[in-house]
Amino acid sequence: MVKEKAPCLRVVLTFDDGYASAYRVAFPLLREYRIPAMVFISTALVEKDGQRLSWAALRELARAGWEIGNHTHSHRSLKGLPPRAIEEELSRAQALIAERVGVTPTSFAYPMGEWDANVLLAVAARFTRARAAWGIDRDTPRWGMWWPQSPLAIPSFPVRRTTAVEEIAQLDAHACRTGDLLVLQFHDIADEGGPWAYPPARFRAVVRLLVEQGARFSVLKEERR
Ligand SMILES: [Zn+2]
Repeated sequence: MVKEKAPCLRVVLTFDDGYASAYRVAFPLLREYRIPAMVFISTALVEKDGQRLSWAALRELARAGWEIGNHTHSHRSLKGLPPRAIEEELSRAQALIAERVGVTPTSFAYPMGEWDANVLLAVAARFTRARAAWGIDRDTPRWGMWWPQSPLAIPSFPVRRTTAVEEIAQLDAHACRTGDLLVLQFHDIADEGGPWAYPPARFRAVVRLLVEQGARFSVLKEERR
């Protein structure tokens, strides 16, 4: 049976916090389908404890068309920090990524999904896109309504260990009806590892579903909304 195609579906796959599984598990699969994706890196976590991406892996991802986004240096929440500390978190990560990967990020993701006015000012000065950690919920009729539509608060759906493939299918249907960008937020792709680790088998099922639906995949720096 041929499934109905949904060329209206626009999807961005994001992997937060630089888990090595983005390279070891997601990259080989996505490469088969020629799907680009993005990682949001906190530079202090790179090469940490064998669980995180190496600089070499990040360079390979960048060469393969993945977007490398800034997720601060230390991964602490920026909300409530003085402007100088915010600037330090952004610029340190920016400099390290430029030096070690050879690209200057234009997209940012807020640690813990938190921001305030100072954070927004600092982010607006450096980046053209910033991804929120929340804002898509299968129960809301149209997402992004929590904030004014802004390229500095792009809603995303946090994929949890408990997220079923059917739930993603519902989001697809929504995105198709509304024309909204579906940004999926993954962390580790692993069978073990807490509420944010997503099992590889289910990850593969999600990718197959999106491909079957004719989703158009891109990265945030390519998206206009
Ligand atoms: Zn994070």
